[in-house]
Amino acid sequence: MDNSGSVAKKLKGLREELESQMRTFVGYPCNTVFDYSEIFPFLNYSINNVGDPFVGSTYRVTTREIEVEVLRFFADMTHAPKENFWGYVTNGGTEGNLYGLFLARETLPDAIAYYSEDTHYSVSKNLRLLNMKNIMIRAQENGEMDYDDLRETLRLHRDSPPIIFVTIGTTMKGAVDNIGEIRKILREFAIQRHYIHADAALSGMILPFVDDPQPFGFSSGIDSISISGHKMIGAPIPCGIVLANKRNVDRIARSVEYVGALDTTLTGSRNGISPLMLWYAIQKHGVSGFREMVSQCLENAEYAVKVFRDNGINAWRNKNSVTVVFPKPSGAVLEKWQIAVSGPIAHIITMPHVSKSQINELVQDMVANPATE
Ligand SMILES: *Cc1c(COP(=O)(O)O)cnc(C)c1O
Repeated sequence: MDNSGSVAKKLKGLREELESQMRTFVGYPCNTVFDYSEIFPFLNYSINNVGDPFVGSTYRVTTREIEVEVLRFFADMTHAPKENFWGYVTNGGTEGNLYGLFLARETLPDAIAYYSEDTHYSVSKNLRLLNMKNIMIRAQENGEMDYDDLRETLRLHRDSPPIIFVTIGTTMKGAVDNIGEIRKILREFAIQRHYIHADAALSGMILPFVDDPQPFGFSSGIDSISISGHKMIGAPIPCGIVLANKRNVDRIARSVEYVGALDTTLTGSRNGISPLMLWYAIQKHGVSGFREMVSQCLENAEYAVKVFRDNGINAWRNKNSVTVVFPKPSGAVLEKWQIAVSGPIAHIITMPHVSKSQINELVQDMVANPATE
C-alpha cells in the first residue's frame, strides 16, 4: 500500500499547525528555544536506561553514563551531598514529586504529609495514589505557604512525624515556600523525624543562576528535589530529574532487591533520549549560558509587569520569578493567547521564547478587549 503521499500531507499539516500555535504560547513554562538536531541520529537505536542509572545492567544499549553526568550537574546546582546523593532522569516534574513522596513515605511510614493549597494539582492525586495521610495548608495571597496555618496544624498533630512538601516556584504565582521558616517551626516543636521534599519544577532551574536566591537546595535542609527538564532548559520530550539523599533510597533499594533486582526507579524501561538532550543542553549552555538565559527572562518579566501597569492592568510577580500574574482577561483575549487561568487570575511566563513585542501585543489586546466583570 503506498500511502506516502497522504502521510506526508498529514505531517505537513500538523507541522504548520504547531508552528502557528507557537506564536501565542506565552502562558506555560516551557522554553521552546532549542536545537537538538545533532542528537537526531540517536533516534535510530533502541536506547533504554532501564533500572538504576548508577548500576550496570545486561541491557547495554543505554545512555546511563550521560545520565549520571546530568545528575551530577543538578547535584552541584542543588548542593546535594557529594557522593551521597542518588537520582535519575524522570519523565517530568510530576514523576519526580511522586518519587520524592514515595521515599518520604518509606522513610516515615507513620507520617502526615503537609502541602499548601497552591501546590501543583498533581500532588493531591499522588498522595492519594500512595495512600498517604495528608493535610492541606492555606496559602498566602502571594502563593507562599501560610506558615501560621502550618504551625497551628503541626501543633495539633505532634504525635505524627511530618512530611513537608514545599514548592520552589508555584505553578500559578511563582512563589517560593520559605524552607528556613518551615525548619524554624519544626525546631520550635522539637520535631526531629521529618522529611522535606522540594518541588522545584521551574524555579529549580532559576534559583541556581541568580545572585540572591531564596533557600531551595539540599544545603537548606531538604531530603529530595524534583526539577523539570522541558521547562527552563527546554526539550521536545517532557523530562526532568529527581535527586535524593542516598540513605533514603538505600532503604527502598533493599526492599526491592529482595525480589531480585536493583529496581530503584519508578518505571522499568526508561527514556534514554531525554538524558542525552539534557546533557547536550548543559554542554551547550554551561552555567554562564543558563545565568544569561535566566537573567534575560527575569528582565522580560520585569518589563511585562511595567507594561501591564503602565496600561492600567494590575500585574505583579514574586521575587526571582518569571511568572507575571494579572487579573483574568476577557474571552476574546483568551481565545487568541495561550494563557493559563486560575479563578480570578491569569499569568504569562516570560520563558526565553517570549519576546517584548509579544508582551506589548498581549497588553494592547487586553486594553482593546477589557474583561467585563
Ligand atoms: C509544571 C509543574 C509540575 C509538573 O511538572 P511536569 O514536568 O509537567 O510533570 C509540578 N510542580 C510545579 C510547581 C509545576 O509548575
